[in-house]
Amino acid sequence: MAIWVEVDLCDGCRRCVRACPYDAVEIREGKAHIGDRCTSCGACMEACRNEAILTDAQPRVVPDFSDYKGVWVFAEQRGGELHRVSVELLGKAQELATQLNQTVAAVLIGDGVAGLADTLVEFGADTVYLVEDAILRDYRTEAYAHVFKELVEAHKPNILLMGATHIGRDLAPRVSRRVGSGLTADCTELSIDPDEGILLQTRPAFGGNVMATIINRYSRPQMATVRPGVMEVVSAAGTQGSIVTHVTRVSEDRIGTKILEIVKEPKTHTDLTEAKVIVAGGRGVGDAAGFELLGELAAALGAELAGTRVAFEEGWIPASRQVGQTGVTVRPDLYIACGLSGAIQHRAGMMDSKFIVAINKDPYAPIFKVADWGIVGDVFDVVPELTAQVRAVCQVMCD
Ligand SMILES: Cc1cc2nc3c(=O)[nH]c(=O)nc-3n(C[C@H](O)[C@H](O)[C@H](O)COP(=O)(O)OP(=O)(O)OC[C@H]3O[C@@H](n4cnc5c(N)ncnc54)[C@H](O)[C@@H]3O)c2cc1C
Repeated sequence: MAIWVEVDLCDGCRRCVRACPYDAVEIREGKAHIGDRCTSCGACMEACRNEAILTDAQPRVVPDFSDYKGVWVFAEQRGGELHRVSVELLGKAQELATQLNQTVAAVLIGDGVAGLADTLVEFGADTVYLVEDAILRDYRTEAYAHVFKELVEAHKPNILLMGATHIGRDLAPRVSRRVGSGLTADCTELSIDPDEGILLQTRPAFGGNVMATIINRYSRPQMATVRPGVMEVVSAAGTQGSIVTHVTRVSEDRIGTKILEIVKEPKTHTDLTEAKVIVAGGRGVGDAAGFELLGELAAALGAELAGTRVAFEEGWIPASRQVGQTGVTVRPDLYIACGLSGAIQHRAGMMDSKFIVAINKDPYAPIFKVADWGIVGDVFDVVPELTAQVRAVCQVMCD
C-alpha cells in the first residue's frame, strides 16, 4: 500500500504537516513530502484541501453483521455462587438490548450450577446458555475460553460483556483472540450509538485524565469488561427465560492445567463493592494512627474503611481497600472522604456514591466538586467530633 503527493496539486499549505500525528510530513521546496515515519493513517489526506495526497489503499469495508444478535453476559460463578458483577451486567445488558431490539442471554458455565439459571432470568436474561461438565467445575482459562468459542461460533452474539474480575480479566482477552474480535477492558459506561447501532465503550485513558469512547466496527461480538460496582443492579422480575443446554467438546487433554488445591483467603471484611457506608482516608490522615481514628468513625457507623492509592502505598490500608481507577469501584449510600484531595483517579471509583461527605482543610480541594456536604476543617478535629456525635445519636436511639 502506498501513499504519495501529486506535486502539481500541492500548494504547500502545511495543513498535512499539522494533521500528521507521526511527524511524517514536511514541506520541501514548497511541496509536501511524506517520509519514512508514515503509517498510512490517512490524516494528511483528510486535511488536504486540494486532494493532492493519494493512496492506492482500498477503503476498509464494514462486514455485514446482521446475523449477529443478542447481548450476552458471562454469568461468573465460583463454587456455585454467582458473582454480583454478572447481575450488574445483566441490568446494563437489558438497557442495550432494548435499544437494539434484541434479547439478553447469560452464559453459565460450571458443574451442578443449573440452579443459578432462575436468578439470571430474574435479573434479565431471556436465555441462559448452560454448559455443565465435571471438567468445568473450577475455572480454568483454556476450558472456559474453548466453551465460549464454541458458543460464539454457534449462536453469533452481537455484544459480549464480562466482569473485570480476576477471572474476567483472564478470560475475556483469550475469548476475544479466539473469536477474532476486539476487547475494551475496564469500561465505565456502555451505550448504543443511535445512528450506527454500535456499542460505545467508554473507559478512562491516559492515566484517567480523559475518557475515551471506543467502537469496534469490523468484528463481532463487540466485547467489553466492566469492573464490579460500576453498573447498577436492575431486576427484571416477572420475565420469562429459557435454558439452552450446550454440550462442550472440550476434553481434559486439551486443557493443559490441573487444579490441585484451591486456597481461600479468610474473608475479614465485607466486600467494599457491597458496603452501604464507607469511610475513606487519604494522605491528609497522616499515618496509621490517623486511620485508627477513621476506624472508630467507621465502627460507630457500621461502615467499611477504605482509602486512596496514597493510603495503600503508605501501608495504611490493604490493596483490596483502595478505591479508584486502579482500585475498587464503589457506590455506597454514604461515602465519607477524609483528608483526600479527590484526584480524578480516585473520583472515578466513588463518584456514583449516593451521598458524599468530604472533610478537607483545603476549601478548593477537588473532592468538594462531587460532595453533597463539605466540611472545611482538620480531620483530627472533625472526625473525633463526628464519631462522638454518631455515638451519642446511637445511644439515644438505643435508650
Ligand atoms: C494511572 C493512575 C492510576 C491511579 N489510580 C488511583 C486509584 O485507583 N485510587 C486513588 O486514590 N488514586 C489513584 N491514583 C493516584 C491519584 O492520582 C492521586 O495521586 C491520589 O488519589 C491522591 O491521594 P490523596 O488524595 O490521598 O493525596 P493528596 O492528593 O496529596 O491529597 C491529600 C489531601 O488531604 C488534605 N489534607 C491534608 N491534611 C489534612 C488534614 N489534617 N485535615 C483535612 N485535610 C487534610 C489536603 O488538603 C489534600 O487535599 C492513580 C494515579 C495514576 C497516574
